[in-house]
Amino acid sequence: MTMQNSIRLLDDITANRIAAGEVVERPASALKELIENAIDAQARHIKIRYSDGGKTFFEVRDDGTGIRASELSLAVQRHATSKLNETSLEKITSFGFRGEALPSIGAVARLEILSKTQEETGQKIRIEAGKIVEEAPVAHAIGTTVRVRDIFFATPARLKFQGSDRAESLAISDTVKRLAMARPDIGFSLYEEKPEGARKIFDFPALAGDAYGDRITAILGNQALADGLPFSAEKDGCQIWGYIGLPTAAKGNAQAQYFYVNGRPLKDKLFYGAVKGAYSDVLPSGKFPFCVIYMRIDPERIDVNVHPAKTEIRFKEAASIRSFVLNAVRMGLQSRPMQADHSLSSALMGQFSQTIAQPQNRPNFEQSREQNGMNFAQRPSAYQSMQSPMRYAMPSLQSHQNLAESARGFEGETYQGEGETADDYPLGFARAQIFDNYIIAQNSEGLIIIDAHAAHERIVYEKLKAQYESREVTKQRLLIPEILTLDPVQKDQIISEKSHFDALGLEIEDFGIDAIAIQAVPSLLNAQSIKSLFEEIIEAIGSFKTENPVQSHLNAVLSSMACHGSVRSGRRLKLEEMNALLREMEQTPNAGSCNHGRPTFITLDRQALENRFGR
Ligand code: ADP
Ligand code: MG
Repeated sequence: MTMQNSIRLLDDITANRIAAGEVVERPASALKELIENAIDAQARHIKIRYSDGGKTFFEVRDDGTGIRASELSLAVQRHATSKLNETSLEKITSFGFRGEALPSIGAVARLEILSKTQEETGQKIRIEAGKIVEEAPVAHAIGTTVRVRDIFFATPARLKFQGSDRAESLAISDTVKRLAMARPDIGFSLYEEKPEGARKIFDFPALAGDAYGDRITAILGNQALADGLPFSAEKDGCQIWGYIGLPTAAKGNAQAQYFYVNGRPLKDKLFYGAVKGAYSDVLPSGKFPFCVIYMRIDPERIDVNVHPAKTEIRFKEAASIRSFVLNAVRMGLQSRPMQADHSLSSALMGQFSQTIAQPQNRPNFEQSREQNGMNFAQRPSAYQSMQSPMRYAMPSLQSHQNLAESARGFEGETYQGEGETADDYPLGFARAQIFDNYIIAQNSEGLIIIDAHAAHERIVYEKLKAQYESREVTKQRLLIPEILTLDPVQKDQIISEKSHFDALGLEIEDFGIDAIAIQAVPSLLNAQSIKSLFEEIIEAIGSFKTENPVQSHLNAVLSSMACHGSVRSGRRLKLEEMNALLREMEQTPNAGSCNHGRPTFITLDRQALENRFGR
């Protein structure tokens, strides 16, 4: 039998090392604390250096207020902070408030702080494994330099869990960038120290306080905002603003999602969830749009003291904040439904030049003329036997009907009201249809290629959804019910959801032990393949085990329905139909992408086209 050990207070060093386990998980997390201290000290420029992924050395130098010489030794003590003096825990406006970072780092590493305030002379202090080993006056500009060497030398077990230098370097630059994104008014620079000299990773100059777009561009590159929509909203004194990415540029992970509350970078479930909800109409799950979302809220309405690394917070009115964010992002998405994804357009232009650069893909007209040894003008019948550029330019105009229609378009006989010009419509006027799907349209700015199937799918989806939400789905009764055979268990489950299918315009009846009869479908759908539609819906729902299966898979169900209801590729459209489709797209929210997140149209601006031809 073992005896109960007696209870005793931990000594400071042990307590600090335990705290360090949470605050100083890796070099980047310690660095984050130091940069936050610099921001709290009103620094205008913050310069960061590191080597070996931060494992052997990193340093943060700022031009902030500095620490008084007389208080330097206090700053490195546990629970010592200057930030809770006037304010209380209920109203935190600074990054720090725990008074934990410096003592924690000092407990596991070799820590050196040099600092000077405006009034006093500079002072330096050195700590090793939690003990002050040196304190002396030093020459230093106003501000603070904090150096950390051999992080974890006092806790070697931790060192083993560190990633490669490369992984730690990436974490460091990611940490600095995330902080820099929230404060365009502060300059941030990052240097890696190498035996051969310092290497600049980046240097973001201090800008105006509201130059968020410029800072984001400096950090993420030009493309980020070219495909982003600015948005902003305000409710009950809570403001949010930022940029949200087009669905067509979404990625496979959430790396490109940035959230800030009162300047503090967060990895918060509320935001991830709200963004997911806002895009649920336009993106399948597993796709993550780019976004930078800033929120300004009264500090009394949040609790920042819920996570040691302070990357999560608690909203006192979580549910209403979540729906505020969700709605703001959704409105932002719908505000400019006709924005095309520029990266797609430039990629397409790139492909054009490729084709030109590779003669084997596109026979040279002159060459083939010579090879054939004949003169095109004199022997027009040779047209058929030659691989003429004309045939390459329009390989898919298989039918005379389409050719005739496009010709009509060029003559100006378009579906165009009196006095209307292409400028009146963002998607311009249809000129032709190619590959039995894509509509080629033109407006004053250039050429637009529309995926008719995807566009129609989007329109049907939005209509279905609107009808569903207003509880007014118009149905068409089938002349002969469709009988669908199912296994008995599945049948029971589907019948138990009857009222929910009803609300979607899908009227079903019990049809014996292993079948259902489909009696009516939404009028928006074509009534040709009801069975396969229903099978697809059952698949979209996946499992009927969850509560409210139809309800909780509503987007997937509506998507399958829309997909079935829309113009399948292969259907040829009349010019009037094409133009009607374009006009409907312009009226439809989220028309820029189909519900799988693919674009519905791309643009080729006239300038780019003319440049291509060297005009
Ligand atoms: P906290 O930030 O929670 O207050 P820290 O351990 O990070 O705790 O810092 C302790 C104190 O040291 C701070 O409250 C602040 O007064 C002072 N301090 C730390 N870093 C700086 C800095 N770069 N410039 C000015 N003061 C600093
Ligand atoms: Mg701090």
